[in-house]
Amino acid sequence: MKFDIITIFPEIFDSYFSESLIKKAEDKGLIEINIHDLRDYSIEKWGDVDGKPYGGGRGMVMKVGPIYRAVKEIKNEKKCKTVLFTPRGEKYNQKKATEYSDLDQIIMICGRYEGVDERVKTQIADQSISIGDYVLIGGEIPAMVVVESVSRLVPGVVGIDNEGFLEERVIGDGMIEYPQYGRPEIFKTDEGEKWETPEVLLSGHHKKIKEWRKEHGEIIN
Ligand code: SAM
Repeated sequence: MKFDIITIFPEIFDSYFSESLIKKAEDKGLIEINIHDLRDYSIEKWGDVDGKPYGGGRGMVMKVGPIYRAVKEIKNEKKCKTVLFTPRGEKYNQKKATEYSDLDQIIMICGRYEGVDERVKTQIADQSISIGDYVLIGGEIPAMVVVESVSRLVPGVVGIDNEGFLEERVIGDGMIEYPQYGRPEIFKTDEGEKWETPEVLLSGHHKKIKEWRKEHGEIIN
């Protein structure tokens, strides 16, 4: 699984992708993350990638040209989708993450400023994606959201027994998430309250534990 991220702020990803399971997955060759500086695809003197919008209005708009050249050069797998991040896009969810986990390459375009020339949406991107009903400053956090949620579904990425994890957790296009408890069994507060772990989870009875998790869990899709 190859993730290609097009951004004007490549360094934003440095610390995030150099830690935790994502880093391990990259080291093991399970995923590949490539960060592309959009300015490298500018043909203008100062590496400009934005301009004033036609029709007026405040702010700048990211140009179609550099994005066109970047996607053309980066795209090198058949099973590939090019995704543009915009708050006007289709809502991202677990179902989409599952769909993406079946690809070989995802190219992500991170917008900035007042957005991206609409021709990127209509002519270049296969999909426009929103991660929620709010407006962010840029598409870099949405790109991290996609990398993390899709990587989690790539066999071998989460934990030692990832195959078992996926078998147990993936239900259709969704994923079951249930309450978890860890040590101590009973947590005693300073006010004298006792916060207990449900008895069934301490029983070692796998069938009953599975039933409890199903009952108390939620399918996220
Ligand atoms: N007017 C722009 C539009 O309608 O797409 C939004 C501009 S926003 C200030 C700057 C960039 O942040 C967008 O181009 C997009 O890449 C990203 N962005 C902001 N909110 C987002 C959201 N909820 N989901 C995905 N991307 C978002």
